[in-house]
Amino acid sequence: NVGSKGYQAEAVELPGWRHIYSGKVRDLYEPAEAEPGESSEVLVVASDRISAYDYVLSSTIPDKGRILTQLSLWWFEQLNVPNHVLGSTVDDGVPAEVAGRAMICRRLEMYPVECIARGYLTGSGLAEYRESGTVCEIPLPEGLVDGSRLPEAIFTPSAKAEYGEHDENITYEDVTGMVGDDAAAQLRDLTLELYREAEGIARARGIILADTKVEFGVDSTTGYITLGDEVLTPDSSRFWDVETWEPGHAQPSFDKQFVRDWLTSAESGWDRAAGGEPPALPTDVVERTRARYVEAYERLTGRTFA
Ligand code: ATP
Ligand code: MG
Repeated sequence: NVGSKGYQAEAVELPGWRHIYSGKVRDLYEPAEAEPGESSEVLVVASDRISAYDYVLSSTIPDKGRILTQLSLWWFEQLNVPNHVLGSTVDDGVPAEVAGRAMICRRLEMYPVECIARGYLTGSGLAEYRESGTVCEIPLPEGLVDGSRLPEAIFTPSAKAEYGEHDENITYEDVTGMVGDDAAAQLRDLTLELYREAEGIARARGIILADTKVEFGVDSTTGYITLGDEVLTPDSSRFWDVETWEPGHAQPSFDKQFVRDWLTSAESGWDRAAGGEPPALPTDVVERTRARYVEAYERLTGRTFA
């Protein structure tokens, strides 16, 4: 599906690899020697691009691609769910130009569903709850506020949107209609299992995993449902500090908060409602955002980001 809905990125040319797709953040390649679409491997390269409000910004965040890749690799090792990673070093075959921010992966036939687990109420979940007392039509108890912990984690899938459009919350029923009953049940169970596992690991490090989005696909060589893409990064998850968590208002999170705050401030001059491209970020917003990504990586992994 090259170019059908992808982001028009200037992906780097890599010897031995053919560029096949670019999302908002990642560029995908396949081995150049294989017939197009035939190889069972892909190279997933994370860029320093940053998206906000469904747009890719013209500014990049230095080291973001490396941080996302290294954090995902760390999580893939912690989790019990089968994942797509085959290798991540130059010895494994990763081109030196992108070493550190790339993974060689099993090629998956991705499901068109963003698998989201929420243990806390905020964001689009909170918006739906305020209207109807539900999230993805799952009824929740009364009296919850922004940041409340849910009685138990829930599966709140969304459908992938076109570039510049917002992903749309869908119901579990919708997922069964899209992928069938068996696959839907597996996607839900794997997502909730992953969330519970990761939530415990993060909590032990003083971080609340409020919610997270994962993507699965089918490995055509084995037929198994496999965890793909990136996992449990600040781009795909809301991380909150255990120390400062206080339901009743928006929680400061380890992600693009500075970017969103600046873009929606008068200073940026961006008229979001008019649908124009967002402006470039000032240097201090870039720097503070980079520091947040590094901090999330270091707190979760216990490693120093080199
Ligand atoms: P979109 O795909 O809608 O453009 P996005 O902007 O979030 O989403 P990125 O995350 O930047 O895209 O790009 C990663 C793309 O690669 C996603 O489309 C994802 O589904 C796909 N992908 C991830 N892992 C694999 C894999 N192992 N095999 C095939 N595709 C994969
Ligand atoms: Mg993505």
